[in-house]
Amino acid sequence: MSFADKMLRCRDCGNEFPFTAGEQEFYAQKGLVNEPGRCPTCRSARKAQRETGSYGSGYDGGSSGSYGSYDRPRREMHPAVCAQCGQDTEVPFLPRGDRPVYCSACFDQVRVSR
Ligand SMILES: [Zn+2]
Ligand SMILES: [Zn+2]
Repeated sequence: MSFADKMLRCRDCGNEFPFTAGEQEFYAQKGLVNEPGRCPTCRSARKAQRETGSYGSGYDGGSSGSYGSYDRPRREMHPAVCAQCGQDTEVPFLPRGDRPVYCSACFDQVRVSR
């Protein structure tokens, strides 16, 4: 079998590109009957586009969905007992033994009285 270079027209960009004898032989060995429809440039461009495209769409969906909750960050509240009135309350910090913890009402009183 002998092959000769021939020119094919890319269906994407319309440019002619060589389908070389070596490539034709490679195609024949692989049992491929269809000639390549795109030039090597468009083939690699499509391949790159497909890979980045799938990554990009997945990334966009994840980040845009979390924007709403990111605007108002929720503080983590810790249960505590008010040192003044003894009521159960929640504080935005981890209560430690060395400082008294007040509910919001008592905290205002303590702060004012100081
Ligand atoms: Zn092309
Ligand atoms: Zn209190």
